[in-house]
Amino acid sequence: MASPLTADLAIIGSGSGNSLITPFWDDKKVVLADKGIDATGAFGGTCLNVGCIPTKMFVRPAHLARLPEEAARVGVNAQTLGADWAGIRDRIFARVDAISSGGRQYREELAHVELLSEKVTLTGTHSFRTASGQQVTAEQLVIAAGSRPAVPEVPGIGLEQVHTSETIMRLEEFPQRLLIIGGGYIACEFAGIFSGLGSEVTQLNRSQGLMNQLDAEIADAYSAQAEQNWTVRYQRTLAGVVERSEGGVTAHVVTSDGRAEEYDADVVLIAIGRVPNSDLVGAAEAGLDLHADGRIAVDAYQRVLAGGEPVEGLYALGDISSEAMLKHVANHEARVVAHNLENPGQLRTARHEAIPSAVFSHPEIAQVGLTQQQAMDQIGAEHVTVKTQRYGDTAYGWAMEDETGLFKIIADRRNGQILGAHAVGYQASNLIQPVVQAMSFGTDAYTAARGQYWIHPALMEVVENALLGLEVPVPADAPL
Ligand code: NDP
Repeated sequence: MASPLTADLAIIGSGSGNSLITPFWDDKKVVLADKGIDATGAFGGTCLNVGCIPTKMFVRPAHLARLPEEAARVGVNAQTLGADWAGIRDRIFARVDAISSGGRQYREELAHVELLSEKVTLTGTHSFRTASGQQVTAEQLVIAAGSRPAVPEVPGIGLEQVHTSETIMRLEEFPQRLLIIGGGYIACEFAGIFSGLGSEVTQLNRSQGLMNQLDAEIADAYSAQAEQNWTVRYQRTLAGVVERSEGGVTAHVVTSDGRAEEYDADVVLIAIGRVPNSDLVGAAEAGLDLHADGRIAVDAYQRVLAGGEPVEGLYALGDISSEAMLKHVANHEARVVAHNLENPGQLRTARHEAIPSAVFSHPEIAQVGLTQQQAMDQIGAEHVTVKTQRYGDTAYGWAMEDETGLFKIIADRRNGQILGAHAVGYQASNLIQPVVQAMSFGTDAYTAARGQYWIHPALMEVVENALLGLEVPVPADAPL
């Protein structure tokens, strides 16, 4: 067995954790442990290998394949003759796999970094053991071991036709019929991708409606469009999957009122949430505090809590500890942790306000801040002002002949403070950024609208009009 390793810094997880190895550590000893993505063993974490990056590389061709729908609205006859699944898949993973293996090689070649490509289990607050028995003790330790897809324990779940987001993008054959279980971010993104590329998609969700954590008006608008774009059924859970002799599978499904149904498909995608990997690293056994959903508890400095108290020199970041399982949040937390590791006497706090997110489905969704209901609950309905701007009532919306896009802003009518924004439609993820900026810098709604020029007639005028539609005070020195 290898002799014990002692490090100045040890990191569990090569996703956002990998970015902690700054030049500060060049003359120190760093250990980076990562078992790799389960399906492929890949280095670099979820976002790069099986998450944000490859999915968006599939979203783009799926969007282009749908262009004839948009073109027809403005009098252009276009036709999609099909999509080259194997070509798209191989192009995407040629790029992603090269970045992953290049990242691993770069770390392996650094003399001061020891890469352990194994599952590790905590043996204390500053130590862990690898599966092969290598003991590691570190002055400072960061747990950035991420999350994994939740999988229901039903018969047939292990069949090769049943996939999660970790495997579905590498399918050998394009599925003609895809059954998706779940109604959240991942289910809705893959429904958009596969239906765009030509699959017959059926999506089943447990509750009524899709994307139920969103503002209700936006979730309803999205669900209504999804129901037009592919088959959607609610109030259904998966009971089991069996293989069919003629190929493909039959999914056994139970409705909320107890009826049994069957769905035939080539492939089933399970997308019912993600589980933090705190159990895999043995966080509870090491005495670390956990939230009810399994996330490791941290303080504002990202220090891990044990018995309610922060442990010096022990940090967690990203999906394993964060309420928002989003790469841009993990990146921010990694910058905070990097600072705190290097400056233990001058700790900085992480900022978790005005966190935006987007669902790159068809249509696209984006959100930041409170929903209308949350705003009314927090400050009282009488203090809330809301404007929902239709894309179709702006100049660029006329150009698009858009009939479905919505941009909604919620503010405090007493002082113009923006509380949230929610969008569904073309480019929602980009359109929302000026509102994120205003919220982050404390700019009131009127100043955000009139304190800058908006390019006419860009689609961004949707946001300007939504801001101007709020019933908020006009500051005394407000620009005209
Ligand atoms: P989500 O938590 O977003 O949604 C889970 C969905 O699955 C809900 O609709 C839930 O239904 C449904 N569900 C749960 N259990 C069952 C079941 N047994 N049968 C049928 N449906 C079920 O999970 P995701 O896996 O989509 O995503 C996980 C997280 O990953 C997201 O919360 C997000 O933070 C992150 N992510 C972000 C992305 C982005 O930013 N673009 C993209 C992908 C992931 P119900 O409504 O009843 O609760």
